[in-house]
Amino acid sequence: MKKMGDMLLRNENFSEIVIGNTAIVRAMIEAGTEIVTSYPGSPTPEIATAISSIKSEKRPFYFEFSTNEKVATEVSFGASVNGHLSTVFFKSVGLNVAADSFVQLALLELIGGMVIILGDDPGANSSQNEQDNRHYAEMTYIPVLEPSTPQEAYEMYIEATKISKKMKMPVILRLTTHVCHAKQKVHFKKYEIKNISKQSKFDKKNGPYIPITSEVFNMKKNALLKLNEFKKLTSEKNINKLFNNNSKKGIITMGVPYLSLLDVLEEVEDKPDILKLGVVYPLEEGIIKSFLNSHDEIKILEELDDILETNIKRIAYDNKIYTKIMGKFDINEFIGEYTPDKVQEIMNNTWPEIFQSININKKINVPKRPAQMCPGCGHRSAFYAIKKALNSEDITVADIGCHTLGYLPPYEMGEVLLSMGHSISTGSGLSLFNEKRNIVSFLGDSTFFHAAIPGIINAVFNQHNLTLIIMENGTTAMTGHQDHPAVGSNFNEKTKEIPLKKVLEGIGVENIFEVDAYSQNKLFEIIKKTSKIKGLKVVIAKHPCMLKFTREQRKKGTYKNRHVFIDQNICNNSNYCIEDFACPSFQKDDKGNIWVHEDLCIGDGSCIQTCPTSAIKPKNN
Ligand code: SF4
Ligand code: SF4
Repeated sequence: MKKMGDMLLRNENFSEIVIGNTAIVRAMIEAGTEIVTSYPGSPTPEIATAISSIKSEKRPFYFEFSTNEKVATEVSFGASVNGHLSTVFFKSVGLNVAADSFVQLALLELIGGMVIILGDDPGANSSQNEQDNRHYAEMTYIPVLEPSTPQEAYEMYIEATKISKKMKMPVILRLTTHVCHAKQKVHFKKYEIKNISKQSKFDKKNGPYIPITSEVFNMKKNALLKLNEFKKLTSEKNINKLFNNNSKKGIITMGVPYLSLLDVLEEVEDKPDILKLGVVYPLEEGIIKSFLNSHDEIKILEELDDILETNIKRIAYDNKIYTKIMGKFDINEFIGEYTPDKVQEIMNNTWPEIFQSININKKINVPKRPAQMCPGCGHRSAFYAIKKALNSEDITVADIGCHTLGYLPPYEMGEVLLSMGHSISTGSGLSLFNEKRNIVSFLGDSTFFHAAIPGIINAVFNQHNLTLIIMENGTTAMTGHQDHPAVGSNFNEKTKEIPLKKVLEGIGVENIFEVDAYSQNKLFEIIKKTSKIKGLKVVIAKHPCMLKFTREQRKKGTYKNRHVFIDQNICNNSNYCIEDFACPSFQKDDKGNIWVHEDLCIGDGSCIQTCPTSAIKPKNN
């Protein structure tokens, strides 16, 4: 099997089938990027997977997972103003975390260049919303390039670095889930090998770098002038593409909708012309004006919000162009991914005479399967015990991580969710003037470091009355098992652990309880106890992520195939294991007998204590 790391370093012209996220890492190498930072989040974590495939001693740039997206942005910014070409990448909602620093970037002279890779998530496949981060670009005067394919992701990243370095301005490369994960044969180029510069080039004379009142107007003016320059520069680069089919009908599109449109057009005879935009902010007016002027009707096909539509209609209005422009017809066009089926439906609504309606027989109805925690997950065991200890009127607050799945039946633990690390502060708010109902907030260990510490300090400082349960599984599980500060290693090396308990003690939490998440009776007692104590109580419910743990054991060859089984002579079909504990390994046969699926069961035994008749037993394999 070819080694990804070796492939990424090949210094020659060659082609390889890769996903978009991998193509970007090769582009980083070719562009001479020196510093890369991130906080993990879908759809971009495979960028880090590809980086990790390059042996650290051969890796031509520095990479770190920072503690959150804001920190990652600031590290990348600091490197850029010191002369290094830098890049930060994270998921869509990560930009909300980074925003406080991100919004200043265009005001400052980024002498080394800086590319911000945003992984937007139309369809909210793994995010709490499907926010369209092009809005941020407009607000902050930061230009955006958007590819449709892995090949374009690779090319546009390199282009973005060139523009950013030349103009000393930040450039966004906006990816969406399908571009990150799509596979394509990408053509790579030979590159110049450079060592990371050890020269510190920071000079305040390149600034000003302090955005205070007396400077802000000039800085803003400078950012706007750079945007104009950017428009001129990109209009010469053929990043926007025109496809002429000699039609009087035209479609302006971008990103993934363009690819879906190509699918749909395969069965269309009278193909409209297409203007595919790669520069999605600021728009190149010349090409748009000429496209509008040369067509009778225009459809704007864009995923999520109507940003192109608004801007193109403004261009038409300002230039007295009277071509019929059709944007989004209804709310459904603002929602979800633009798959070929969706695009076909939209185009059929637009021009029914040339686009057929969707063939219902072609629609595949895939049964919905709710996400669930892995067999043997410590979170399941903890939720089972905590639910038993709480009263039905108590309020539970969810946070982000695998444990968010606790909101699903049968546990129904976690009734409200805003964002990473919100649970402690939302819980604090819920506790005000609330004498009778216990407040229990959940939090993951990676999220603890990411965004929860100020909320915990606030709860201590303002003496809020709630219980915080930190589900410590020793990793950032949901995004692919990245290390966090309590683990004892970072992306590059072994480090000193920063234990949660010590941090909590340091910020003045007095009532801290530690328990193994599999010790259900102990956890039950602790929750009962905490409900009687005033103030902030923190329970650290520990158990390693079993998916990571078993994978590591398999890799080392130490994995032992263990299972439990149901003793049918004892089982009274109370169904606790299925209905209350709900490990997916428990199955029912036609006669209603419960059995354990051995392909799923990992034999950890956390379920044994849940059976009132002790019918679940370890199997000696
Ligand atoms: S990945 Fe780990 S933490 Fe997440 S559900 Fe699976 S076992 Fe639990
Ligand atoms: S021992 Fe098997 S059935 Fe029991 S909790 Fe673990 S994985 Fe599920």
